[in-house]
Parts: sequence; C-alpha cells; structure tokens
Amino acid sequence: MRVLVINAGSSSLKYQLLDTKTQEVYAKGNCERIGIDGSFVGHEEDGGERQRLEVALPDHKHAIKHVFEILDAAGFDEGKIEGIGHRVVQGGWYFPESKVVTDETLGWVREVAPLAPLHNYVEADVIEICREMFPSIGNVIVADTSFHYGMPEKAWRYALPRHVVDKLHIRKYGAHGTSHRYIWRRTSEFLRGDVHKLVSCHLGSGASLSAIQDGHDMDTTMGLTPLDGLIMGTRCGSIDPATVFYLNRVGGYSIDEIDTMMNKQSGLLALSAVSSDSRDIEEGMNRGDANCTLALDMFYYRTGQLIAEMAQAMHGFDTMVFTAGIGENSSTMRMGIARELAWLGVRVDETSNAVRSDEPYAISADDSAVKVLVVPTNEELMIALDVEELLG
Ligand code: ADP
Repeated sequence: MRVLVINAGSSSLKYQLLDTKTQEVYAKGNCERIGIDGSFVGHEEDGGERQRLEVALPDHKHAIKHVFEILDAAGFDEGKIEGIGHRVVQGGWYFPESKVVTDETLGWVREVAPLAPLHNYVEADVIEICREMFPSIGNVIVADTSFHYGMPEKAWRYALPRHVVDKLHIRKYGAHGTSHRYIWRRTSEFLRGDVHKLVSCHLGSGASLSAIQDGHDMDTTMGLTPLDGLIMGTRCGSIDPATVFYLNRVGGYSIDEIDTMMNKQSGLLALSAVSSDSRDIEEGMNRGDANCTLALDMFYYRTGQLIAEMAQAMHGFDTMVFTAGIGENSSTMRMGIARELAWLGVRVDETSNAVRSDEPYAISADDSAVKVLVVPTNEELMIALDVEELLG
C-alpha cells in the first residue's frame, strides 16, 4: 500500500511517501518555516539529493497543497496515494491504538490538546485540511503515546491526590511510543523471537527508554510530558519538582520562563555550555573541555541509572537496543553507557561497536549477560503499517 506519512509541527511539516510492502521510500521532505519569512521545502525522491524549493508557505494548508503538487510532479497524483498516516504527539486516553479519522476521533485529538498544546492543535488542523482537500483518501491517527497506554497502573500513576489527577487526567503518558513499538517489532524479527525483556533506548535530541516485555510496555522514562526522564539535548529530564517552586518564588522566574528554561536551555546544552548536539560535545571532550566531559559523564550516569530502572520494571532484561540519532551513530556514547552497566554483566565489543549500518546489528561481546543491539528506528514505516492495517 502507498501511504503518505505526515508529521506536522508548529512551523514545519515533514512528509514521506512509502510503500508498505517493499518499504521503498518514493519521496520525502520537510516544509520549513511555515508562517515565517523565508519558508522553503526540502525535498528528496528516489533516494536522490535533497533539493531546496523556495516557496511561500503562509500556513499549513499551503504546505499540504505544495506537498501534493510536488508528489504529483514526481508521478504520484492524488489517485496513487492510498492512505495518509498522521503522527499525533498526545493521544491522551482516547488512543490506546491507532484509529481511522472520523469527526469523533478528530475531536478527541483536540480534546486532549491541553496536554500538548504546541503540537495537537496544529496536528488536528492538518488532519482536517487533508480530509477537506482530498476526501477520497482515508486518514489514520497514530499517537506517540499509544504504546505506553497499557502500562501497569503502578507504573503510570502519580502519587498525587486522586481528585486532582482524575479531574486533570494527570498520569505518565510517555512519548516516542511509535519508535519503541517499531524497535520491539524489528528486534523480534532480527532475533527470530528470542527476545522477552527488552530495554529500548531511543537517544536523539529528545530521549526516552521503554521497558518492553513480550511486546508490552511495562514502563517508560517520559512522563506527563516529554520533559521527564533522561538528560536530553536541551531538556533537563527528571529533577526535584520543587525546583520549579524555588525558581519561581525565590528566583523570580515566571512559569513560562521556567518552562522555556527546562525545555530549551537545559540538558546537554546547559551542561556543556557548547552545544546541544552530542557531536560537538564529544569533540569538546576530545579537546579536554571539562564541561563537555562532565556533560557526557552525567549523560552516561543518568542513562545507565534509568536503564536499570527499566530492567527493574521487568525484573530483568535479556536485550537492550540503541536507536535514534545518538543511539545509531555514536559509538562513544554507546560505550560510555554500556560501561555504567558493567556490574549487570553488560559487555560491548569494541570492533562491533565501531560498525555503522542501516540494518540491525549486535555489538555485545560474547561474554555479555545481555544482548546489546543497534537497530535504526523507522517511525514512518510503523505509521504506514498502521494505516495499512486499518485501511488496506
Ligand atoms: P530528534 O528526532 O529527536 O530531533 P535525532 O534522533 O535525529 O533527534 O537525533 C539528533 C541528535 O543525534 C543530534 O542532536 C546529535 O546529538 C545526535 N547525532 C546525530 N548524528 C550523530 C553522530 N554521527 N554522532 C554523534 N551524535 C549524532
């Protein structure tokens, strides 16, 4: 089935047209700076070079119109697109699994939007535009929180007053669920079913872990929002929640300022004082920069700690997988994290760890108590497979 996957952000819209059977990616790209001066589309087809097309994109409607024009010019007119899959950041309590777009399901995306206001509203608008502009093509909602929704209550519930959490729907929702779900599926294929307790480590500029037992999510490190858990590119991850009161009452920072500080000015960026990008920080460490060295040490320490926490949720683990930008590309960071887990019997082989591949591969040493793999994630394929299952 030929599926168009759309991932809409507040000022961007990523798209990918792919075939679920062959997994061939016909075309992909990103509409950038929507609603801002200097908007353009970065577009690739048939695995070729990325072209930059300068186009006015005053709003998301224009962006979608352009995407369809570009696809049409590439030989894929509207009639050749058999379904559209939409990534939705927050599915709340309505999407324990992916769902076909109807008036009702679209209303749910908006109803839970206060939990992710920067994402859900624009995603709902984009879904609505697609329905209006291309009524013959079916749409599917794939929420990033779905995979985590079935976690045991002891994992998702917060120890806050019941009337408050019930009224405001406060719980651990997690994120990156589509990636973690894909990692389970691909790892299981790669190991021919010989995986039961997996810690999936999605380490990109946003980062989270998931404890997956026989395909079911048992716990995850992100919480009500994607701010919780690991130290990330610009996010602080878990800290004492009372830090917020202190910053507000004593530091004089407003709630919005604290929100920006914790989401955009913290994490590896704040620790290294160099960059949020792990490549720059590794370079800094190699130059002997003390802040960069500490930033990496803290990243290994916290990631190791939380991997052990995920293993605890399953009372053990037989496999761990590295994925996403850092997990797939940085042998240094994989080794740094693995060394933290040496006491659990985790051993990584230096030669295998130096490999770079688009296919899954093992990096654990023969005497490792846990299989350690690198598995490139593919959220777009996972979304497209859901579309096929629901509309195909
Ligand atoms: P996201 O999708 O969350 O924006 P990605 O999964 O694309 O993030 O990961 C981006 C991050 O991955 C970059 O900020 C960088 O830190 C890291 N990264 C990407 N390539 C490499 C590399 N070759 N070596 C080390 N780190 C890398």
